[in-house]
Amino acid sequence: MLQINHLINGKSVPSTSGRTSAVFNPATGEQTGELGLASVEEVDAAVASAQDAFPAWRAMSVARRTKIMFKFRSLVEANADEIARRLTAEHGKVLSDAGGEVARGIENIEFACGISEHLKGSYNENASTGVDVYTVRHPLGVVAGITPFNFPAMVPLWTMPNAIACGNTYVLKPSEKDPSAPLFIAELFNEAGLPDGVLNVVHGDKVAVDRLLEHPDVKAASFVGSTPIAKYVYSTGTANGKRVQALGGAKNHMLVLPDADLDLAADAAVSAAYGSAGERCMAISVIAAVGEIADPLIEAISERMGKLTIGDGTDSTSEMGPLITREHRDKVASYIGIGADEGATVVVDGRDQQFDNDGYFLGVSLLDNVTPEMTVYKEEIFGPVLCVVRCDSYSEARDLISNNQWGNGAAIFTRDGGAARDFQETADAGMVGINVPIPVPVGYHSFGGWKDSLFGDVAMYGPEGIHFFTRPKVLTSRWPDPSTSSVDLGFPTNG
Ligand code: NAD
Repeated sequence: MLQINHLINGKSVPSTSGRTSAVFNPATGEQTGELGLASVEEVDAAVASAQDAFPAWRAMSVARRTKIMFKFRSLVEANADEIARRLTAEHGKVLSDAGGEVARGIENIEFACGISEHLKGSYNENASTGVDVYTVRHPLGVVAGITPFNFPAMVPLWTMPNAIACGNTYVLKPSEKDPSAPLFIAELFNEAGLPDGVLNVVHGDKVAVDRLLEHPDVKAASFVGSTPIAKYVYSTGTANGKRVQALGGAKNHMLVLPDADLDLAADAAVSAAYGSAGERCMAISVIAAVGEIADPLIEAISERMGKLTIGDGTDSTSEMGPLITREHRDKVASYIGIGADEGATVVVDGRDQQFDNDGYFLGVSLLDNVTPEMTVYKEEIFGPVLCVVRCDSYSEARDLISNNQWGNGAAIFTRDGGAARDFQETADAGMVGINVPIPVPVGYHSFGGWKDSLFGDVAMYGPEGIHFFTRPKVLTSRWPDPSTSSVDLGFPTNG
């Protein structure tokens, strides 16, 4: 069985806490690994190593840091298949999806390769006579990343490259459910030339997270996970004087107007709702079907659902893998019954599909006639269950989105430019798609939701990421009138 260690000061360090956590292959239900959950002392050792590495790392020239970023990019690309293999082995997502996750992560390394451009300051000459004013951005020091199970490679890559390229040192606390891919990526970053201690990985649970949030040498924390923990991390971290960005859960709506391209909308709904078993923070979990499109859309979606192949992610014919744990699978399945009890129509019941092994599989489900008062609408299910809310008008559907607790992503499917433009302006979400179901921004924009999907005021990666991981310093300098200089400057120039 794989023993998964911390990475502290460039070395693989076994935990001595005596507390452990098991890692499973969700496609088989077998335990494949074990990791030690960090004690306070182990977190302190990682932070101390990052703190020691900080002065030299921030002093290293931008040119040398950039070279390391390029090397890191090449190494991740060269090892993309191995990263994807680890993702599938511990998360369960199908290999093609895992490959896509790595590709989206690489975008963020590429953005960080342009750090010289991102760290350009600004300069005002002669703000007053002989006075120049300029702003530069400095790194913060030791920063921490706390990441969820559902994108074990991509989410750490949302922050590590930018934070480190800016001159910070970093402690990552990945999800304890699927830690091998992020650990491997951190090892590749070290191999690319990071000095020891610049990047550390500690595995752990609440003990590790709490220590990072209270440690005086940790200056900032980037968190991605569920809303209750995001709220907790934000309030605890900021109460301890840290800069915190905490991304939470989601309930993303896809608004479909009667004029939408039916096939396009149905294809998009199926891939966005059931891809990665619905365990994506940008998954579509609610269709707001307007008017007469509801019936044909539900029929087209059900037809496609019947053709989905669910199986082990390593099988190239599988289009959807298992859920992350047995408990989570059972919880997701329970929502189907709850929905039915509260009056939803179960069009397709994923519990009916049988699987012949101990993996955490669940078939895909579709619930119609869902209303905003129902539990299945109010709670984040985070699994392959798609709810349809029927709306009489565009404005009713738009208001549904506005009144929802979360505001991560929202999408509209229509051929009408006016409706699309209104949606672009008024949709109450941080990331909006027009005929695009999962509008995850490219690496040179920034990712962040609104409302209970993000606590803090800075989104993740792209320009906002650079902003989060640096603080401004404004310099005001005065020099004597050049005509009084002891060097012959060729004056007088003004007559
Ligand atoms: P989670 O909140 O359970 O865990 C996230 C991290 O917090 C993990 O590292 C975990 O070890 C740690 N943690 C868990 N309980 C804790 C506690 N009590 N105190 C301190 N730390 C704790 O989330 P998850 O189940 O790993 O991930 C799924 C959730 O993440 C979903 O809600 C999903 O919507 C959300 N998510 C959001 C985004 C986004 O961009 N908004 C992206 C990915 C995932």
